[in-house]
Order: sequence, then structure tokens, then C-alpha cells
Amino acid sequence: MNEKDIAGDLEEILVTAEDMDKRLDEIAGEIDAYYQGEQVLMIGVLRGSLMIMADLSRKLSTPVAMDWMALSSYGSGTQSSGVVRILKDLTEDIKVRHVLIVEDIIDSGLTLSWLVANLETREPASIKIVTAVRKSEAVCRMNVNADWVAFDLPDAFLVGYGLDYNEKYRNLPFICTLAEHVYTS
Ligand code: 5GP
Ligand code: MG
Repeated sequence: MNEKDIAGDLEEILVTAEDMDKRLDEIAGEIDAYYQGEQVLMIGVLRGSLMIMADLSRKLSTPVAMDWMALSSYGSGTQSSGVVRILKDLTEDIKVRHVLIVEDIIDSGLTLSWLVANLETREPASIKIVTAVRKSEAVCRMNVNADWVAFDLPDAFLVGYGLDYNEKYRNLPFICTLAEHVYTS
């Protein structure tokens, strides 16, 4: 799916496919330097993180395994409450392993702080976090820190590169905002 396929719905492209590719090259270099060849377990939070998982993992020289979790956060409408339920748990035992949480987007940070607390009880050797997007609002509100952030973006509703609106637009290679009529029609 590309720009021409959603021409009428598109408002603004904030991160192009090329921007993301270049930025992930930089981040992969930093992650490789950090782990120094240690084995890492990348944990993707379904479903939005599939794109960054696929792209980032292929840029790493670090030997990685991959596992996935699906979480549902209770809340009214678009507001995250921080009360989280595990829909799909890990397959792997993470005890004494180096865990790298792979996120699509950090908004309030509530889901992520719950996830970090949950994983800590399983006694991994370390937990680090990488995210494709961090909303600017999250920087001051969050009580968990992302270790690697591809892009800090303004507090608008974003789609593409794994991010959906009603399960649409995940397969856009870029990150964009949508025209008002998409939400009202
Ligand atoms: P929070 O950080 O507020 O606990 O929740 C983060 C989750 O809310 C993300 O994993 C994502 O599913 C959803 N989310 C937050 N902001 C956006 C956005 O701009 N676009 C999309 N598509 N989902 C978002
Ligand atoms: Mg997510």
C-alpha cells in the first residue's frame, strides 16, 4: 500500500519510508554497540510492532531471538487506563536473558510501564526498550524510559508502519496523519 492508494484519506506524511530506514540503521548500530554480541530476546508487542520488528531485526548484527505478546488495555475510548490484560503471553522463558521490548508507539506510556513491571517479575538479566514513535506528550508523563526512539512526533493520531485505525493503514510504509473525514464518515 502506498500514497496513491490512500490519496483521499491522507493528511500529512510525518515519517517517510526512507526516513525510517535511515533512522533504523543508526539505532541498529547503537544497539549492536550496546549488547557487544550478547544474545538478545526481542519481544514485540502485537500487533503494531511487526514492522519495526521486521526492519530493525534485519539490520542487527546482534544474535536475536524473537517472541511476541498481545496486550489489551482497559480504558474508555482512546484513553489508556493502565489496567492491562495479557491476551497472548510469551512462549519463551525470559529468566536471566537480555530482553529488548519492541514497541510501535508510546503514547501515555501506561501500557509499557505495566509491561516492564510484569516482565521484571520473571527475572530477566536486563530490559531495554526500543520504539518507532514516541508522542511528545509522553516524554514528560512517562515513568518508564525508552532507550531507543526512532522518532519523537507531535500528539496527533498516527497511522502507518504498523499503526492502524480500525485495523486499516497498518501496511503503509510511512507514518502519516489522516484527513478529518476519515474519522467522521
Ligand atoms: P499507551 O502508551 O497510552 O499506554 O498506549 C499505547 C498504545 O495506544 C499503542 O500501542 C497503540 O496501540 C495505541 N496508540 C497510541 N497512540 C496512537 C496513535 O497515534 N495511533 C495509533 N494507531 N495507535 C496509537
Ligand atoms: Mg503497542
